[in-house]
Amino acid sequence: MATPLSHLAVPLALGVALGADTVPPGLLMLALAVAVLPDIDALGLWLGIPYEHPFGHRGFTHSLPVAVALAGTGALFAPALGADPLTAFGVLLLSAASHGLIDAMTNGGLGIAFYSPFSNRRGFLPWRVIEVSPLRPSALFSRHGLRVLRSEMRWVWVPCGGLALLGMALRELLGR
Ligand SMILES: [Zn+2]
Repeated sequence: MATPLSHLAVPLALGVALGADTVPPGLLMLALAVAVLPDIDALGLWLGIPYEHPFGHRGFTHSLPVAVALAGTGALFAPALGADPLTAFGVLLLSAASHGLIDAMTNGGLGIAFYSPFSNRRGFLPWRVIEVSPLRPSALFSRHGLRVLRSEMRWVWVPCGGLALLGMALRELLGR
């Protein structure tokens, strides 16, 4: 995994880039939730579910079909959140799917079950540039932890910050 905090970067960037009219606070909250939700499977490690099990860490909950299902379900609540359903679907899909994709760029652990439940084959993206985060949060307070945070800053927060600023600038230019 990347640290849970870094998975928030994508929905935050989308919220800033698209603006509060398009991504109202309720939708942003839901997007933040679906971006960290896949790591709920880490609890399985403490419950005795092996890492490589279909429901193990980076398995089912990290898959793209689950991201589509989460986004579809969330989009049903779009009117209540003051958002357009298609926009809500897109924002939630990018937020949820980004979790597995970011994890798939880390340099440790097992791969992501991208197509679960249709296939339990696990894989990484070709660019494994992000230092993998330790599963124990306390291990972040170490020299390795600093390396993890620096790497996530470089490969997650800086690009997301850039996209957020670009979106803001475009909205300004277009007068929206
Ligand atoms: Zn994860």
